[in-house]
Amino acid sequence: MIPEHILAEIREIVGSSRLLLAPDELEEYGKDATKLGRSPDAVVFPRSAREISSLMRLANREGISVVPRGAGSGMSGGAIPVSGGLVISLERMNRILEIDPDNMVARVEPGVITADLQREVERLGLFYPPDPASIKISTIGGNVAECAGGLRAVKYGVTRDYVLGLQVVLPTGEILQTGVQTMKGVAGYDLTRLIIGSEGTLAIITQVILKLLPKPESEMTMLALFPDVQSAAGAVTAMIRSRILPTVLELMDSRCIECVRDEIQIPIPPNTGSMLLIEVDGDEAMVTKQAGRVEDVCKRWGAIQFLRAKDQVEAETLWEARRNLSPSLYKLRPHKMSQDVVVPRTRMPALISYLHELERDYGLPIPAFGHAGDGNIHVNIMLDNDKPGEEERANKIIELVLKKVIQLGGTITGEHGVGITKKNYLGLEISQEALQLMARIKKAFDPNGILNPGKIFSYKI
Ligand SMILES: Cc1cc2nc3c(=O)[nH]c(=O)nc-3n(C[C@H](O)[C@H](O)[C@H](O)COP(=O)(O)OP(=O)(O)OC[C@H]3O[C@@H](n4cnc5c(N)ncnc54)[C@H](O)[C@@H]3O)c2cc1C
Repeated sequence: MIPEHILAEIREIVGSSRLLLAPDELEEYGKDATKLGRSPDAVVFPRSAREISSLMRLANREGISVVPRGAGSGMSGGAIPVSGGLVISLERMNRILEIDPDNMVARVEPGVITADLQREVERLGLFYPPDPASIKISTIGGNVAECAGGLRAVKYGVTRDYVLGLQVVLPTGEILQTGVQTMKGVAGYDLTRLIIGSEGTLAIITQVILKLLPKPESEMTMLALFPDVQSAAGAVTAMIRSRILPTVLELMDSRCIECVRDEIQIPIPPNTGSMLLIEVDGDEAMVTKQAGRVEDVCKRWGAIQFLRAKDQVEAETLWEARRNLSPSLYKLRPHKMSQDVVVPRTRMPALISYLHELERDYGLPIPAFGHAGDGNIHVNIMLDNDKPGEEERANKIIELVLKKVIQLGGTITGEHGVGITKKNYLGLEISQEALQLMARIKKAFDPNGILNPGKIFSYKI
């Protein structure tokens, strides 16, 4: 509980109308997309870096835990206030401060919804590529804190590749500017990159300077059905080897296809074992040329069906399968444990074969889909928490999958972050020496350990 005299100081900073204390209102701000949660003691809605600075000085003096929060769409528990304390919601700092078409940069507050920024820049013929599937709900601040990826990452990269500079508030209250607003800049250590992906544990992001691109003239969506995952993965590698870089390269395995089969308008032959959703962009001539080459590669790798969308309506039909996927998986079991692992592209078939082995050995369905162009596979372990033993078996599968991923040269999380759900596995990937250095960095930013405690590291820092 936060003592009354400190709540009075918080009220002086943000006013009573921007402080929540009622238990039923607090509950909502204690959860994220993991469906785990714990209510905070209070939630505040600051409107400026200066207010956040005053809140942090107070919290640091009094040893109160602070958790920054965007939209709460995180998939690793990063925004959950595991030790109570104060949640700082950035949702009311949601202004697009500037879009500069000549220098192709935007300056935004952290609470801007990603899709809103994309829409606004596109009106000016510009393009902000990062497109997490949560684009309509997630915030730019949350995207930066998690270094969110998305469907277009194979060609355009992830959030990190578009952040030029940040304004942040340190846990000790200082407001500082990192990075640049130019296309280049190497002065000093790269604090911007250190804070990107730090999951709200080093600083609170209060402004973001983003690089923009010109909007591509056109795009084309295609769908290829294959007899098995091996041929689809072979086509992915062959496309990239023949210098085609699609914007989107999404893969689904046979379990996923079975889940969406009855819900989509596309007839899927019974012998389909894998599906690739592909999109290319550029000027019209380039799109036509690339689409032709994609079709050739897919057919060479044994595609049993290849569809090209003639217009936006047809493209939507092809996208339907991908969009319907996540909810459809619950047909298999009522609960899901999801892992967003990444392996080198050429090792995807080895990982998927291993998942089939685990399905057989542990008796739980493990549908896999994901951003095949990045080797980023979402491994979904489906279970019924109410059935004795299923949760233990699922946890064992997670451990084995993560160990296999490391053995294949991959990483335990490509975009969802460590948060609380993966912190016990971080040591599989990161050496003790590197973990100790990270602990010293955390201490330098946050000497009293008040900012988002209990995240990323399995021990107290
Ligand atoms: C349906 C669905 C699809 C998704 N698809 C993708 C996907 O394709 N790619 C992908 O990468 N992720 C995806 N996600 C995960 C999630 O949307 C992203 O991690 C997103 O970046 C989180 O943004 P948020 O605003 O909801 O942040 P929150 O969940 O509120 O917070 C996430 C983390 O960021 C910290 N944080 C938030 N704002 C700030 C700030 N201003 N300063 C400092 N720290 C801050 C929090 O403390 C927390 O640790 C998906 C989630 C859902 C529910």
